Amino acid sequence: MKSSFYFALRSLWWRHIKGPLKGNTFSTGLCFSCGQKSYFMYSHEIKDTNIQIGSDGGLSEEFMAAAAEDENHCCTLCMKNRRTRTHAKAVLETMECKSQEEFAHKLKQQNLCILEAAHESIFFSTTPLPVKNYILSCFFGPELKSGSIIKNRRHENLESLSFENASLDMVITSAVLEHVNNLESAFKEIHRVLKPGGSHIFAVPIDSKLKCSRRRAELRNNETINLFPPIFHGDTLLDKKILVYHDFGADFAKMVNDYGFKIQPFSQTDSGLFGVPIFMSKKI
Ligand SMILES: [Zn+2]
Repeated sequence: MKSSFYFALRSLWWRHIKGPLKGNTFSTGLCFSCGQKSYFMYSHEIKDTNIQIGSDGGLSEEFMAAAAEDENHCCTLCMKNRRTRTHAKAVLETMECKSQEEFAHKLKQQNLCILEAAHESIFFSTTPLPVKNYILSCFFGPELKSGSIIKNRRHENLESLSFENASLDMVITSAVLEHVNNLESAFKEIHRVLKPGGSHIFAVPIDSKLKCSRRRAELRNNETINLFPPIFHGDTLLDKKILVYHDFGADFAKMVNDYGFKIQPFSQTDSGLFGVPIFMSKKI
């Protein structure tokens, strides 16, 4: 574990040397991922890379520009982007907590159980969240059994979770669902493992210009069939590119409600539901 001195030094390096050299600009605010007052860096390089990622995908320009914004504005202390920081804020607000310390305390005191299905958590905390109450799982491949431990991480496949019915208070997925092959199974599984009234707080890319959500790719007999030109998103933990299986459009909220949730966007961005918005949905 690197010290807070390391992160402070890294922040200074980005703010005063590397960032300005690259023409990056900065804004300030409270980072809900690391809980620190920080500087957020707008990188032209990240913007160009993100627009390039979806350029052949048949998605609207408005969507690509908005998504590139959400994946930018990284905190110079913890390097979490705007989507991740907003997601952390949504979780804290849903839990009615003002800080991560309060959040960690509430999890322990009320013995709550949260699953974050992500290779990298939306939180970057100097106060570690209690491991028993906050499970950070990883997906290592469809052939593995959920609940097994691989490389010191718990493997969970959203299409077949290892948790008991109604055993979790919250499930968190940040920019994960677009990479799941069988979306219906994933939503049904999340619904199954949540307690009644439990929440699924998640971020997904939404192109509201797309009337109907659609598959970009599917797995048939363990073989990937691309229905549209493939789009890949980066994964820092596994250091590889992950294929996008679904494009989500204007019908997305209705689709989620049909699985037995009551969904609402966490906050409206300037561009409405373009980009990678955060949703809060409750099991009903
Ligand atoms: Zn931060």
